[in-house]
Amino acid sequence: MSRISTSTRWVAALVVIIALAPVPAGNFTVSLLNEIGISALVALGLILLTGVGGAISFGQAAFVGIAAYASAWLTTAQGMSPWAGLVFALLLTGLSALVIGMLTLRLGGHFLALSTIAWGLSIAMLFGNIEGLGRHTGLSNIPAISIGSWSLIDPHHMYYLVWVIVGLAFLFSRNLLNSRPGRAIRGLRGGSTLLASVGADAYRIRLSLFVIAALLAGIAGWLYAHMNRFVSPSPFDVHASIEYLLMAVAGGLGSLLGALVGSGVVLVLKNALQDVLPLLTDQAGQLDAIAFALLFILLLHFARSGLMGFVLRWWRRRAHARPQSSQPLDVGPGVTPLPERPKPEKGSRILSVQSAVKRFGGLVAVNDVSFDVQAGEILGLIGPNGAGKSTMFNLLTRTLPMSSGKVDFLGRDISSMRQLDVARLGLARTFQHVKLRPHMNLLDNVALGAHARVRAGMLQAGLRLNRQEEQQIRLEAMRQLERIGLADRAHEMAGSLPLGTQRILEIARALAADPVLLVLDEPAAGLRRKEKVDLGDLLRKLRADGVTILIVEHDMDFVMKLVDRLVVMNFGSKLIEGVPAVVRADERVQAAYLGGAA
Ligand code: ADP
Ligand code: MG
Repeated sequence: MSRISTSTRWVAALVVIIALAPVPAGNFTVSLLNEIGISALVALGLILLTGVGGAISFGQAAFVGIAAYASAWLTTAQGMSPWAGLVFALLLTGLSALVIGMLTLRLGGHFLALSTIAWGLSIAMLFGNIEGLGRHTGLSNIPAISIGSWSLIDPHHMYYLVWVIVGLAFLFSRNLLNSRPGRAIRGLRGGSTLLASVGADAYRIRLSLFVIAALLAGIAGWLYAHMNRFVSPSPFDVHASIEYLLMAVAGGLGSLLGALVGSGVVLVLKNALQDVLPLLTDQAGQLDAIAFALLFILLLHFARSGLMGFVLRWWRRRAHARPQSSQPLDVGPGVTPLPERPKPEKGSRILSVQSAVKRFGGLVAVNDVSFDVQAGEILGLIGPNGAGKSTMFNLLTRTLPMSSGKVDFLGRDISSMRQLDVARLGLARTFQHVKLRPHMNLLDNVALGAHARVRAGMLQAGLRLNRQEEQQIRLEAMRQLERIGLADRAHEMAGSLPLGTQRILEIARALAADPVLLVLDEPAAGLRRKEKVDLGDLLRKLRADGVTILIVEHDMDFVMKLVDRLVVMNFGSKLIEGVPAVVRADERVQAAYLGGAA
């Protein structure tokens, strides 16, 4: 028994409760439970999209509607089976999401949220205006779903179909989040620059996530249509979308189970209000909306992480109270390490920056700078604050577009490549302003770095067809954590590390990409003396292992002892280039560092 984890036991208990719930219950209760399960599917999509992915949607009910109407139309007007309806509904929902996503997901900030209201409104309006869909009266006489000759007309029978689907959807979502694409999804809130730095395409990931959330809403719509056996426009309008969002927020955007809790709470409350409010006033319809608005406001004030937030906090306190068992890494003995890319011959030129220029309006941050990096060396880029070093790094990693100039990497002109394609070629970087996901553990943060070395997509991940690859990634991430000496903290949250250590963790993430060239922006900032010594040792060891390093660093002592060559920048221009002893002795460099710049 002790081998079974506590959370497994909780889930098993939940499954038993759900399986037995309809036995003593009457039709009304079972119908309510069915409704809860169906709404939980939509809320689950919202938790993935909004809670995890950070893209808010006020239009999710429209996808429920598209699927419901699609299957309703196919089964009534065309007389086909609800199972054909399911396929048709999902195709139509997925396609609509793809098109809407492609049109809107590039919009930044609030504009995306606003656009969801726009298409949410227009799709709902469409249902009410199409003759073939029965306009405002909708479609009725929709057949019930049947499995073989067994018709699921009785809510008790429908119950098991609904909840098996809910269970599978949760399993799929959980698998998805604990995978290569899942880590990228969880990285979305870190911004597209972070994802591009590990070779991941934030736009494509967000688009796939948008489609998955829509498909979950689509399955809900299909169930809805064949359970109620009648569809009309109003359950799919923006008002309904907001209710789904309320469920996700009330349950807790930070946890998948929040979907279930939220839909349960909101629907039970709604039912209770419908019973109680008419006793108080004869305008109960409007009061209903006001009560929910109040609930929303209260939640945002006092319980942003929803009900599951409370549960998780209680859970963690309990876990802390118990003696900590070290969580083993579930990597089997037969796992082969990920293949490594061939490294260029030592001494060959791998990066060449030619007359790079970057203007920010009138300010020339990088002014006609050229230098080369040779395989196997550590090249330092130094200069006073504001000299343009970070900007130079952003140019050569394609994080920022150049105003003019050219960069070659491994013999290819990368001047107009996308940042993520450059990263995939083997150029890995860290950031001066750390870009980690604080609520992901160390292992997952580092594993994100290996994104471009493996293939598994969202479908494979959700269906757990990526087991072997996942083990390879974890092995690789663990290896890199060992390299930086943080393996024993693999399961802690990255946000709990001191800032200096977070910088080191970023190096491990960059290393997980198996880079040819490692570009580090002030990795020693915030480290104590001993930690700096360790970092120096690590970087020398990496050089010995064949990794080429380009480093910006402020600590002169540290840099001078570490690097093979130096490039000095001042006011955006290159001042001098050479071995440390020559650079140190140069008058112009001393003047620049004393502030009386040349
Ligand atoms: P360093 O890393 O050497 O301290 P930076 O490359 O960060 O210097 O900055 C060089 C100059 O460019 C500074 O004057 C800075 O204010 C300016 N700068 C950097 N990034 C931007 C930006 N995105 N927009 C406008 N100015 C910028
Ligand atoms: Mg800088």
